[in-house]
Amino acid sequence: MADRYQQFTRTPVGRFLVPRLGLPNPPTLRRYQPGQPALDGPALLGAAPGGRLEKTLGGQLASVGIEVLCSPVGDARYGALVFDATGITEPAQLRELHRFFHPVIRKIGPSGRVVVFGTPPELAEGRERIAQRALEGFTRSLGKELKRGATAQLVHVAAGAEEATESTLRFLLSAKSAFVDGQVIGIGTAGVTEAQAPPSWEAPLAGKVALVTGASRGIGAAIAEVLARDGAHVVVLDIPAQGADLSAVANDIGGSALQLDITAEDAPDRLAGYFTERHGGVDVVVHNAGVTRDKTLGNLTEGAWDAVLSVNLLAQLAANDKLLAGNVLRAGGRIIGVSSIAGIAGNLGQTNYATSKAGVIGMVDEAAPRLAEHPGTINAVAPGFIETKMTAAVPVVIREVGRRLSSLAQGGLPVDVAETIAWYANPASSAVNGNVVRVCGQAFLGA
Ligand code: NAD
Repeated sequence: MADRYQQFTRTPVGRFLVPRLGLPNPPTLRRYQPGQPALDGPALLGAAPGGRLEKTLGGQLASVGIEVLCSPVGDARYGALVFDATGITEPAQLRELHRFFHPVIRKIGPSGRVVVFGTPPELAEGRERIAQRALEGFTRSLGKELKRGATAQLVHVAAGAEEATESTLRFLLSAKSAFVDGQVIGIGTAGVTEAQAPPSWEAPLAGKVALVTGASRGIGAAIAEVLARDGAHVVVLDIPAQGADLSAVANDIGGSALQLDITAEDAPDRLAGYFTERHGGVDVVVHNAGVTRDKTLGNLTEGAWDAVLSVNLLAQLAANDKLLAGNVLRAGGRIIGVSSIAGIAGNLGQTNYATSKAGVIGMVDEAAPRLAEHPGTINAVAPGFIETKMTAAVPVVIREVGRRLSSLAQGGLPVDVAETIAWYANPASSAVNGNVVRVCGQAFLGA
């Protein structure tokens, strides 16, 4: 649904009134177009003394075709500010953040990017652990201060995973991460050797087979489109009642349609059979299908509880067990869940939904070590307010609050969720495991 307020802010009256009344001014976000430059402007790269990533990051930036500056230049307008904070081992050294960012933060361009790299605090000891934990407060606050669609993220890189950072750096700098803001991403040591650059960054999923559930419309259809754009053969799945829309999506992307209710008792077997017989396995499984049955707990029937839990969580667990046990999910496979910020913050009238979506986060936590052994990865996205039929049906006041109460002051688009999923699916993201990244424009809900 069109964001009428955002449209109003672009009219002559809106441009006059919005700043004078101190109203939210949602920026136009730069979104990915094939062939567009990686960044609008050079990247300034800096490091705290003793950092272990600066050289690798410099090489990766250059390989994307980004102009890399190692010190501020006159009145340059930066596309990105990238800072290696892994050298910060003492809390007093946190002033390196101020030293690097203070002189240049106002020179970041529209939809610019700030990416800070650190060490996972849980892998650090003593005072380094304190200092590294502190980076989170810095990046999350910066995300809230940046204007005109610029975003800030923190990436924790385990020692030994330095070379496994390229797919994440590319994603965060690109317009593909338009609605990801204020996030903390972890890159571990499992999967590092597999984290090779794909033959083509334009088609990283060439030769791969992907499953997207709930793909006849909304976010699922966008995920299917993006994975197909990235070269995958995509099998789109939905309930039989959505058959016509499902076929249309499959035709549009040159994929296949599979009509199946994922809550059916034989659904895991049918999935395993389908992929084994037709494709010899599956590489990417996206559990996007989801339902809501909103009521406050006192009014919530057992049926409405069960319906939500079974689609949003239990069916996914059963499918994962089957696909993993039978090695239908191939080595290097990806399982990707779709949680929600309701699963992080809770939401009035959504005890069932939030339980299921928090359960998806639990699913990622529980299965990440098993996937690392498989080998493969499991991660989830947690969308915030995304412009879909589901959110168009939300009462107008709640809808407006949902859109505006975020650093980017607008709803996201289904493609924003899809691009984040495509980053997880990228073969070069093999060391990105066990993450839940919010695609929410840094919504204040649960932040
Ligand atoms: P949607 O209702 O438009 O699409 C969900 C799809 O899942 C539908 O096509 C539906 O037919 C399918 N589905 C439902 N039950 C199924 C079953 N038993 N078997 C197979 N398919 C089934 O919803 P959407 O807005 O596109 O949301 C997609 C996902 O994103 C959901 O998991 C949702 O909870 C999550 N999410 C959405 C938002 C948002 O703002 N729209 C925010 C947070 C999370």
